[in-house]
Amino acid sequence: MKTDTPSSLNTKNRHRVRVGRSSAGLGLFASDSFKKGERIVEYTGKRLTNEQVKRVVENRYLLEINDRYTINGSSRENIARYANHACKPNAIAETVRGRAFLIAKKAIRPDEEIVWDYGKEYFNDFIKDGGCRCTTCVAKRKTAPGGAVKPV
Ligand SMILES: [Zn+2]
Repeated sequence: MKTDTPSSLNTKNRHRVRVGRSSAGLGLFASDSFKKGERIVEYTGKRLTNEQVKRVVENRYLLEINDRYTINGSSRENIARYANHACKPNAIAETVRGRAFLIAKKAIRPDEEIVWDYGKEYFNDFIKDGGCRCTTCVAKRKTAPGGAVKPV
């Protein structure tokens, strides 16, 4: 069985996105405009069964595609892994016949950061304790009264 998904869309679309500096470290940015519903890049990686995932060292780039399979997107070849989490995203991850794609949720302009909602489980495991760094949450903390002060 072939486990690595072909990345023809990534080859085709690679020049339409770039990795750059974002508020949360590195991020994925549009170099071109994308129409609502358009595929941006494929989320590529080795396909693991969900049983295998339980034995694999936990990493931040596991994307569950259905109740049987998960993509391990930790390879640097997977440019989609650079897309950060946001609570108000402009993209979504969608699976099509066992492959996963980042799809524009709305029209995206060049230089916009491409972000998607990683989901509740990821949020609770990796984001919540450190505080979400997406623009919506950062803005919320800045405007909240006493938001910068930690409770004793
Ligand atoms: Zn957030």
